[in-house]
Amino acid sequence: MKVAFYTLGCKVNQAEAGALQKLFLERGHTLVPFSENADLYVITTCTVTSSSDKKCRQTIRRIRRERSDAVVAVCGCFAQTNPEDAKALGADIICGVTDRKSLLELAENYKKDDGTKTLIRDVTDFRTFEPLFSDSNQGRTRALLKIQDGCDNFCSYCIIPYARGRSRSMLPGDAVNEAIRLKSEGFKEIVITGIEISSYGKDLAEKTTLGSLVGRILDEVPGVRIRLGSLDPGTVDRDFCCALQGFSNLCPHFHLSLQSGNSKILARMGRKYTADDYKEAVRLLYESFPGCAVTADLIVGFPGETPEDFSESLELIRSCSLYMVHVFPYSKRSGTRAARFENQVPRTERERRAHEAIKLADALKAEYLNRQIGTVAEVLFESEDQGFFMGHTKNYCPVLASSGESLKNTLRQVKIESTDGEYLYGEFVGSPQDTAL
Ligand code: SF4
Repeated sequence: MKVAFYTLGCKVNQAEAGALQKLFLERGHTLVPFSENADLYVITTCTVTSSSDKKCRQTIRRIRRERSDAVVAVCGCFAQTNPEDAKALGADIICGVTDRKSLLELAENYKKDDGTKTLIRDVTDFRTFEPLFSDSNQGRTRALLKIQDGCDNFCSYCIIPYARGRSRSMLPGDAVNEAIRLKSEGFKEIVITGIEISSYGKDLAEKTTLGSLVGRILDEVPGVRIRLGSLDPGTVDRDFCCALQGFSNLCPHFHLSLQSGNSKILARMGRKYTADDYKEAVRLLYESFPGCAVTADLIVGFPGETPEDFSESLELIRSCSLYMVHVFPYSKRSGTRAARFENQVPRTERERRAHEAIKLADALKAEYLNRQIGTVAEVLFESEDQGFFMGHTKNYCPVLASSGESLKNTLRQVKIESTDGEYLYGEFVGSPQDTAL
């Protein structure tokens, strides 16, 4: 069977789609680009915002129209929360956020006049982590290691817990073995990901923490860069920092989800930390990992956010010298508590605040990149464009370098000499062999 994949949404979706591709390849099927003729089209969907829903509907409708003879399978968060819509749009197979392995069997045995096959389970029943393993022959430089699924936090603006269910963790031993396997596949970097990795281990019989798991992976899988996915500030304490300190293969880049710099708004969001807690977490990271990069997400224009509250958010990201801030104007998500909150901020004002926050974020990024000049950084090169290779340092700074030989998936030491506020530029130091982690 010729199979084509289209993946929307977050790193967890990408990890799951990668694992599904591996399953199809192992069964002798062929992967083809989504634009080409295929027997089966698999769309991994997202429902984080109403615009993600819109993109999912458009993709399903388009492929159904253009490939009427093919089988269309839809899985992931939109499928989990809107199976009837997926059916009405013409999907043949609808699988939610579990039982992905069954999708393969369903597709292999599917006949056109079978009607729609739906495999959706009630999210509240999910208690066991479904291990899905991707591998290297999908042209990725960085491996995604999904160690956790679901979320118990129910932030007032978020639909994810209703799509993904309760938090559930991969067993620590399985996670370490998977990291070892990904190293043996030739990956030079592994990104530890999940829906809410800060809850890692809380559901396991043998209680453990994200810090202790990552400490084990850093120790037992030397020679591979280990990067962390998005963290909740509550995770960053002395134990966490001590567990990660002293490992040369740790990427000193921490994405610490902020959302607001005002504690009243954080409480309305249902976030379980204050602005001061956030600042303390950042201070601890800078103390424990000097020169590390701290990046964040920021929602502006949340219901009830006054201009003064917004200014506090700007002041916090400035005072914490954050490297990168992803700014999101609040978007109402039906089915969430915040959608029913009073004092919704008008769209024009939300966009104005987003514009102002992005301007500050760009300035902070340029400042951080400037601080890299004169340093020698280890860069993992990932892509090439007209003889220029792009890669990232361990603290997640993008580096552009020209080279006559291919640098894709290679590690090189680069002396940083300049920046344009977007990228770093520099000269190679030593040879590829000199770059041992
Ligand atoms: S932590 Fe909050 S924002 Fe993140 S997935 Fe869970 S409910 Fe959503």
